[in-house]
Amino acid sequence: MELLDNIPVSMPVEVIKRKLHIKEDSQWNEVQPLVEAALPVIAAKAVYKVCYIDKKLKDAVLIDGISFKSRVLRKNFDAVERVFPYVITIGDELQQKARAFNDLLKQYYLDIIGNIALTAAREYLEERLRTKYGLGGMSRMSPGSLTDWPIQEQKPLFSLLGDVEASIGVKLAKNLLMIPQKSISGIYFPTEISFYSCQLCPRERCPSRMTGYNEKLAREYGIDEH
Ligand code: SF4
Repeated sequence: MELLDNIPVSMPVEVIKRKLHIKEDSQWNEVQPLVEAALPVIAAKAVYKVCYIDKKLKDAVLIDGISFKSRVLRKNFDAVERVFPYVITIGDELQQKARAFNDLLKQYYLDIIGNIALTAAREYLEERLRTKYGLGGMSRMSPGSLTDWPIQEQKPLFSLLGDVEASIGVKLAKNLLMIPQKSISGIYFPTEISFYSCQLCPRERCPSRMTGYNEKLAREYGIDEH
């Protein structure tokens, strides 16, 4: 398992303003001190592993001897032999800081700032994988993003990686969500055409949607999330 400690997190002011829908200077004057308070407590870390697919079954794949059951994952791995499971976190301190505020708006701002930091850390990992392993296009999938690959698959993902808690302090709660909450997990894989789970997810009004639902593609993958 490879460890990336002290990931530099870049949070350009324009990105923060856009994500928080800040247009007025007066709003920014309120948010700027929160950004300044957040930066020192963000501790971005990641673990990842280089793994090889042992076997491709009908609706499942065997990676380094561990089974993952998902029709979509299986189809995405059609032409793939090497994959990169990962867990990324920014730690718990930012959320502790947010909880200390009674002001719900400030809590919301800090939550979004945490999400921006987590995305920046993920982009850092992605770029590291791209340069270190000579990869071109890459896509990723996360357990729980589709009913086809449910949250229960966090267990084999963590088993595949090893002792994630000892490395970066992330563990699975009983409900299989990660602690600290500001953590993300998944598998990166090389692709010529970018894949987003959102293409197969019909959920409406999702604030995190990256691209539109594609019913035709969902049919091609043989899943019906309706
Ligand atoms: S639309 Fe939202 S819930 Fe659905 S896969 Fe995308 S981010 Fe996840």
